[in-house]
Amino acid sequence: TKWVYSFGDGKAEGQADMRNLLGGKGANLAEMSNLGLPVPPGFTISTEVCTYYYANGQTYPADLEGQVQAALDRVGAITGKTFGDSENPLLVSVRSGARASMPGMMDTVLNLGLNDVTVEAIARSSGDARFAYDSYRRFIQMYSDVVLGVDHGFFEDHLEEYKERKNYKLDTDLSAADWQVLVGKFKDTVQAELGRPFPQDPRDQLWGAIGAVFGSWMNQRANKYRELHGIPASWGTAVNVQAMVFGNLGETSATGVAFTRNPSTGAKELYGEFLINAQGEDVVAGIRTPQDITEAARIAAGSDRPSLERAMPQAYAEFIRICGLLEKHYRDVQDVEFTIERGKLWMLQTRNGKRTAKAALKIAVDLASEGVLTHEEAIGRIDPAALDQLLHPTIDPAAERKIIATGLPASPGAAGGEVVFDSDEAEQARAAGRRVILVRIETSPEDIHGMHASEGILTTRGGMTSHAAVVARGMGKPCVSGAGGLRVDYAAQTLTAGGVTLKKGDWITIDGGTGQVLVGEVKMLEPQLSGEFGTLMGWADGVRRMKVRANAETPRDARAARGFGAEGIGLCRTEHMFFEGERIVAVREMILADDEKGRRAALAKLLPMQRADFVELFSIMSGLPVTIRLLDPPLHEFLPHTDEEIAEVAAAMGADADKLKRRAAELHEFNPMLGFRGCRLAVAYPEIAEMQARAIFEAAVQAAKASGQPVIPEVMVPLVMTKPELDLVKERIVAMAEAVKKETGAALDYQVGTMIELPRAALRAGEIAESAEFFSFGTNDLTQTTLGISRDDAASFLGPYTAKAILPADPFVTIDAEGVGELVRLAAERGRKTRGSLKLGICGEHGGDPASIAFCESVGLDYVSCSPYRVPIARLAAAQAAL
Ligand code: PEP
Ligand code: MG
Repeated sequence: TKWVYSFGDGKAEGQADMRNLLGGKGANLAEMSNLGLPVPPGFTISTEVCTYYYANGQTYPADLEGQVQAALDRVGAITGKTFGDSENPLLVSVRSGARASMPGMMDTVLNLGLNDVTVEAIARSSGDARFAYDSYRRFIQMYSDVVLGVDHGFFEDHLEEYKERKNYKLDTDLSAADWQVLVGKFKDTVQAELGRPFPQDPRDQLWGAIGAVFGSWMNQRANKYRELHGIPASWGTAVNVQAMVFGNLGETSATGVAFTRNPSTGAKELYGEFLINAQGEDVVAGIRTPQDITEAARIAAGSDRPSLERAMPQAYAEFIRICGLLEKHYRDVQDVEFTIERGKLWMLQTRNGKRTAKAALKIAVDLASEGVLTHEEAIGRIDPAALDQLLHPTIDPAAERKIIATGLPASPGAAGGEVVFDSDEAEQARAAGRRVILVRIETSPEDIHGMHASEGILTTRGGMTSHAAVVARGMGKPCVSGAGGLRVDYAAQTLTAGGVTLKKGDWITIDGGTGQVLVGEVKMLEPQLSGEFGTLMGWADGVRRMKVRANAETPRDARAARGFGAEGIGLCRTEHMFFEGERIVAVREMILADDEKGRRAALAKLLPMQRADFVELFSIMSGLPVTIRLLDPPLHEFLPHTDEEIAEVAAAMGADADKLKRRAAELHEFNPMLGFRGCRLAVAYPEIAEMQARAIFEAAVQAAKASGQPVIPEVMVPLVMTKPELDLVKERIVAMAEAVKKETGAALDYQVGTMIELPRAALRAGEIAESAEFFSFGTNDLTQTTLGISRDDAASFLGPYTAKAILPADPFVTIDAEGVGELVRLAAERGRKTRGSLKLGICGEHGGDPASIAFCESVGLDYVSCSPYRVPIARLAAAQAAL
């Protein structure tokens, strides 16, 4: 079997589309080699070796060693050096590289191959002993940390102590002799910590590093990351071994990272940072503040440190040329790493750049305008779920801002919450229903769960390419990074800035758009959508087949839904209106009434309020379809439960507390979700359905008169299981429509339909469609009743089901296409067979979930309905499903 794939010198054994085998990094290094770009030669050990490694008790295939040696020899031939040679040694980097980039795995070991002998050879060949010993100490530090498991703190402490003793400020103050002393100390530390010396044999070093990469695939952080991102463990990682090029060979050397466009805004401008006389990790480590690459960026930042454009114009020009070429070649924004060794540019990595949703939109629309992408491709480029980011609140410009510090605007959106300093605490607070801002000096992959649990992230160290910034952007969470004016004291659990000290639990607000950190709670504004948003949504609307409606009942939600482009209301849950203001009193009177007469009297009070609600909804939706569902929940949901509440309510209503208590006890149910709810209410108390139907029809007549536009309400009966049941309720609705027509003399068009949320209803959809003019799949209840999993209690036991891959996803988030989906498909078919014009929609939570929307398209539903903020997501997902 071929396990090892070489690249470099203008050719490669791999290419970009081999990322499953070579990992993302390896496949792109091969691709860049094939493109003739300057890539240091090297080779990739495939992901199949990782799979083999774990399937065979952490051992390697027998023929791997020979293939690695042959590939090393090839690198040696290209570079004119030999790995392990005492005169002209080849040094290499070792990097992990899975299909998807994965923080949490072993990242990089640089300068591998250095030992007490080769360091001297490097000192001679470079003519720079300081460089040689600096590289050697970096290698010992990195290798000991990531391969041998010796905490890097030991080495940093040594360095700090040494600098203090010698009165040095910067690392660059250290001479060759200084570094030599430190190398000795570092080696002693390894000996003391591990009881064995730092490995001197380059071959041992290399296999140690390879083993560390494969080992890191299964470490806790990597497992957690995979779990969060749905990456299967079976993918494995590749290992990339590559000839070293040095950015730390003096003032004509440098290293940096860049995006071909701005990953925050999407603006067409090179965006990146570099450091002169440095190695890769220095840029992201935040030890030295990086410099801007372009002059324009330098000027904009008001920096007096030279840009790459000024400092190394030739290498810069070559770099710009290559960035343009890569962007065109990959047809997407690239995130690249490069090193300049004594004026010569080397490309170390390219990959599609992670970006904010805002940038993703702008880039997709721009690339389409530039003719690089078709409109359809541009639509396909946006992750619908990422649109959430654009729909986040921002701080009201009119609000008073008590700014205590400003950092980098690392990830857009504003958020407020209690200060917490620890990721576990963030998770606990979230579980307890509290909102927190995670405040850290810096974040690491160990903080991923805490970042997830937080409203936003604030760090005092690290730039726009720091861990916190990149990860928060990916999560769509607001983040302010590198707020250097802030002091975090983990021991004291305080945060200090501008003379203000905040404790754990105090409220702060961060603005990821400006980098500001504010004390206290600040007024937020609803999001404003960019021009690109409208453009892309327009393209999406042009290709989608399914309509998108919203689940909304309040005027506020209905207006928001319209603003987001909803094409009607797919579900108005009337019970939500029963809780507003005075209404709950009338609702309770109705429940307490001893007979139908009493109930009707209470309902009469509710009628004008319901009617006014519906008039408003119809007018906001001006002519678009509005589906109104009759009362669904069990009546006890409207009653107080504790003795105290009962007493309070009874007093307020002027009712007898004992009677109220008795009624609440009567209505108590062991299994309310399968109890006295849905159309069962209308069967027992038809007067409730009649009042609601009257309110709907009178409102329709009134709204039509006011607007001059026809209003065609869709009256929906919930939780139907049989046709006779629906018929009984429908009869009352039709009778009420006739009555209203007669009373008002107005024409009235309407439809009566049902929710399909019980398996029996799905199975008998053929006959139910004889009475129903539309079906709306209530997949929340249909999931609950099909799987026999309570939607209210699932959280306590569902976790292991997805973790252990018993279920592919939470069935209340993404529709269980095989089970629940089969019922939907069958009901759609049977229903349509009976009534060709039957309108089909979905209004469970799944209506806003992209994967479920794709399923709905496959069944041929007419529309999906979801919460207002998910309407744009649904529009885009529906378009992608139709492509
Ligand atoms: C459903 O069951 O999917 C539904 C939309 O109704 P509700 O969530 O109100 O039960
Ligand atoms: Mg339901």
